[in-house]
Amino acid sequence: MEIVKRPARMTFLARETRARGERIGFVPTMGALHEGHLSLVRRADQASDLVVMSVFVNPIQFEVGEDFRSYPRDLPRDADQARAAGVKVLYAPEVSDVYPPGYRTHVTVDGIDTALEGASRPGHFRGVATVVTKLLNRVTPHVAFFGQKDAQQAVLIRRLVQDLEMDVEIEICPTVREPDGLALSSRNVHLSAAERRAAPVLHRALCRAETAIREDGTRKPEEVVDQIREIVATEPLVSLDYAAVVDAETLEPVETIRGTVLVPLAARVGASRLIDNVIVKLEG
Ligand code: AMP
Repeated sequence: MEIVKRPARMTFLARETRARGERIGFVPTMGALHEGHLSLVRRADQASDLVVMSVFVNPIQFEVGEDFRSYPRDLPRDADQARAAGVKVLYAPEVSDVYPPGYRTHVTVDGIDTALEGASRPGHFRGVATVVTKLLNRVTPHVAFFGQKDAQQAVLIRRLVQDLEMDVEIEICPTVREPDGLALSSRNVHLSAAERRAAPVLHRALCRAETAIREDGTRKPEEVVDQIREIVATEPLVSLDYAAVVDAETLEPVETIRGTVLVPLAARVGASRLIDNVIVKLEG
């Protein structure tokens, strides 16, 4: 595995790979790798000839006061894990190479960037859309892999690739969880022991939501959200930011549950903000 710092070197390797007629599979990350990231690498390894992973903590997707500085960083450890999982090129550019002095261009995906997570984190998705566009331009993958864990990000990226006519396939991979249901996240390392014990309530609430829709026949979004609220309220260390039932493709609120819906939520657990979601597909 080669660790690449320079954007020009990344371009060179990508061109060489494409010239050989080989497929590039790309897994963008912010590092602090865990099994969720590695599941994307293994999928990329099956689907392509050269797996490129980026590790870049993107400053412009963090708001003032968010955890950009304290975001966990450990490139040597990430490199070991990436290598073992099948990454051939680890692209870890410097902030000053991605956003040099004079940088002024940003990508916004109207509507999607202000809904749900966007309402709590203004500017976040503009930062995500911008860096993903730049990374896709640099790495020129045939296919790029993202996790369902970040459901809104997945919708945003599918939209932006379509809207900007980018020649890349987007594949969304399932959320990897701890045995107790907590979705793996780089931010879980910040949880205290008590917070860690409390956090799986989010997954329990989502399972309850799925049962309410699928088995109890609940069709009113507010009733599903009420059930989520009730369950999360049983854990004093967890404070729900939002829960919603939305159209899985547009993220718009639904009046009546039918077809395929996404149930996303976000909560504060101590100093950490955790997100999770479930997709519920109704037959017929
Ligand atoms: P991040 O490093 O948090 O920006 O995540 C990089 C990629 O890994 C994104 O596509 C995430 O959606 C994905 N990811 C993060 N956590 C998980 C997880 N628990 N299961 C599956 N994919 C994940």
